[in-house]
Amino acid sequence: MTEPLGIYIHIPFCVRKCRYCDFLSFSAPDSLKEAYAEALCREIRAAAELYQRPVDTVFIGGGTPSVLPYSVFRSMIDALREAFRILPDAEVTVEMNPGAGWSAEELNDLLGGTDRSGYGAPAVSRISLGLQSVHDDELKRLGRIHDFRTFLNTYEKLRAAGASDINFDLMFGIPGQTGERWRETLRTAVSLAPEHLSAYSLILEEGTPFFEEWKKGTLLLPDEESERNMAYEAAEYLGNAGYHRYEISNYSRPGHASRHNIRYWQRKEYYGAGIGAASFLGHTRWKNTSEMKKYLAVWGGETERTGPECMDACREDTEHLTKKQEMEEFMFLGLRMTEGISAAAFEEEFGVPLREEYGPVLEKYLGEKMLGEKDGRIYLTDRGTDVSNVIMSGFLHDD
Ligand code: SF4
Repeated sequence: MTEPLGIYIHIPFCVRKCRYCDFLSFSAPDSLKEAYAEALCREIRAAAELYQRPVDTVFIGGGTPSVLPYSVFRSMIDALREAFRILPDAEVTVEMNPGAGWSAEELNDLLGGTDRSGYGAPAVSRISLGLQSVHDDELKRLGRIHDFRTFLNTYEKLRAAGASDINFDLMFGIPGQTGERWRETLRTAVSLAPEHLSAYSLILEEGTPFFEEWKKGTLLLPDEESERNMAYEAAEYLGNAGYHRYEISNYSRPGHASRHNIRYWQRKEYYGAGIGAASFLGHTRWKNTSEMKKYLAVWGGETERTGPECMDACREDTEHLTKKQEMEEFMFLGLRMTEGISAAAFEEEFGVPLREEYGPVLEKYLGEKMLGEKDGRIYLTDRGTDVSNVIMSGFLHDD
């Protein structure tokens, strides 16, 4: 059977920009959102025609997909399901932000019924909600558009509409945040019983307002040790609350790990549609253009365009991976997962025993207890997780 494909769809619109954000996202009028969604549908149809593969995971991210008018979003999902064969048990995730959501009726249509979809399943099976913090002052400091009450309203509406697989994104290392306030965010999030939690540390990205504040010395971030403690506390508290840490920053109840994200760490193929979207197919990685104007010039307009020429016209940064690069990716993506990597799978994929390729670096980190080994798998220990970037860079080849 043909190996199923994953699909990522990028919706680059947000109500306004958060102060730490360097994702490809911006505010836009409805006319642009509509033109973009129409162009996206064309790209999706062309990709379906070219690849002709069933799909078992879809992730619609951004940006904030829920800033699209619901009718526009729904047409896009319908077009996706018409173009590709989405498998009946596929995971279809949509990112939403509180304060930029759809009405209760619209959510019922999206999550509740099979009435109008005809798919035999809700149009969307999983929601990822950007909560970040339960403290309004921290949310304000981050430049988020919501407060905690708005988040609760959105969450209640989602549950009432039948959502049974919900993730909350949480953030630590926020300016002014203390350990106690982070613990309160964890406690409150857990008390709401989401199926999945992601806990990321704030990363300072060049070009963001936070970066400028940091340069001026006005951004008071928790020190490195406090931030590391916050990561430990998340792991410990969420573990005790029944959430399994399956990746450095991701925790889930049994059966609710994100299948789409696991696809990235296991290097399974996916097609990315929309501006800035990345794809990985047939040993090649590429990105679509990040320029809306260029994207619309290719996929927009009066006549329906299709075919590989349009895809090529949008494509940038194409990289055909060498075997050595694929080995590196296998290691540093696979080690992000707590189950680690399988030595047998490495040998099967590359025709070389893992220890023949990486003997010295493995022995070094196993000896230092940064890596552990069990049942033919190599994984990061807690100590190794702390310095995961250093460990992973050890698997880069010199040439
Ligand atoms: S909601 Fe997310 S994508 Fe949009 S500006 Fe904020 S951090 Fe960036």
